[in-house]
Amino acid sequence: MASTDSHDVLESTQVVIEQALRKLGYNDSMVELLKLPMRVLSVRIPVRMDDGSTKVFTGYRAQHNDAVGPTKGGVRFHPDVNENEVKALSIWMSLKCGIADLPYGGGKGGIICDPRKMSFRELELLSRGYVRAISQIVGPTKDIPAPDVMTNAQIMAWMLDEYSRIREFDSPGFITGKPLVLGGSKGRETATARGVAIMIAEALRMKGKDIKGSRVVVQGFGNAGSYLAKFMYDAGAVVIGISDVNGALYNKDGLDIPDLLDKRDSFGTVTNLFQNLISNEELLELDCDVLVPAAIENQITEENAPRIKAPIIVEAANGPTTLEGTRIVTERNILLVPDVLASAGGVIVSYFEWVQNNQGYYWSEEEVDMKLEAMMLKGFRHVYEIHRTRSVDMRLAAYMAGVRKMAEAVRFRGWV
Ligand code: GLU
Repeated sequence: MASTDSHDVLESTQVVIEQALRKLGYNDSMVELLKLPMRVLSVRIPVRMDDGSTKVFTGYRAQHNDAVGPTKGGVRFHPDVNENEVKALSIWMSLKCGIADLPYGGGKGGIICDPRKMSFRELELLSRGYVRAISQIVGPTKDIPAPDVMTNAQIMAWMLDEYSRIREFDSPGFITGKPLVLGGSKGRETATARGVAIMIAEALRMKGKDIKGSRVVVQGFGNAGSYLAKFMYDAGAVVIGISDVNGALYNKDGLDIPDLLDKRDSFGTVTNLFQNLISNEELLELDCDVLVPAAIENQITEENAPRIKAPIIVEAANGPTTLEGTRIVTERNILLVPDVLASAGGVIVSYFEWVQNNQGYYWSEEEVDMKLEAMMLKGFRHVYEIHRTRSVDMRLAAYMAGVRKMAEAVRFRGWV
């Protein structure tokens, strides 16, 4: 039988955006406007490589909609980046900002490259070249980039420096996820993981369980996955499985997370140091209390969803579950905390960083964490309430919560 499960992230996002807008009572024109970004820039970036040759990289920046305010979202460096993915990711950023009630629309950028195979110098030239290429359409009141897959505070620092040189003034609010000394926020580095941890605690609470002693599986050991594993370990959960691009580690009595964090390289690779790995497929189907996909898209599909044993799935990655995967886990009564809610912690603290930059007044880590927790919990309750009262699955509920403010802003501005 042919598969009906679309793995095209843009196509499946558009299906749910349309459903959400229809449920909220919006017309065809609103669907037409919000199903694609209003602006997508494609750029070519020449970089003089260490061996003297010039390599030309392709990059994108997509801005979904700026009716609410400037657009906001990360830039990823990955060999699989493509235009449709960046478009979908910009829409997801709109939904995250909408759920958290931030004064932004969604944006996203990406460069097709493999940073694991590039030198520091080459990465600096690529980051600076990207900013020069997109400088016309970004800025602290237009579109504010941030880290994403395989980009970090150092890359944000180079991008900030290039932007400040072009504009000839210091402009820390141009980008978030910066090093602290350049105007970064306390708590930004760990924010996505902290937000996910708050969602896990809340989901467990709803099932009458406690974090302490719960068995957690984390797929992916990048920024979100590694800090999350640490938070879970510190809170007394038993992290029985983790994985990276090479494979997965499993121990039914719990893995030594601090030791794995010590051994991990800056791209999140650690399992290559071990033998007796299990596959990523086996990892997802482990018997556990909470499953956290924290890697890439399309991991839980119509194929493996029937075999998932976890009663709770909290999506730390963007787009890890397909539409059919969502339908199957919902039918199986698995509590799904969708990506646009669960992973909103990063952009929430990015917003705090931007506010601090604009004010020139910096907050304590406690203040950041407290405000983050309040916003995440408010988002969860709102989405859960829609799920319950409108009898829609958690993903559609999150889309409804996420798109409403934007659609209202579009209507008030008279665009539709
Ligand atoms: N890249 C992160 C995300 O997908 C953070 C974006 C931001 O901080 O603007 O949510």
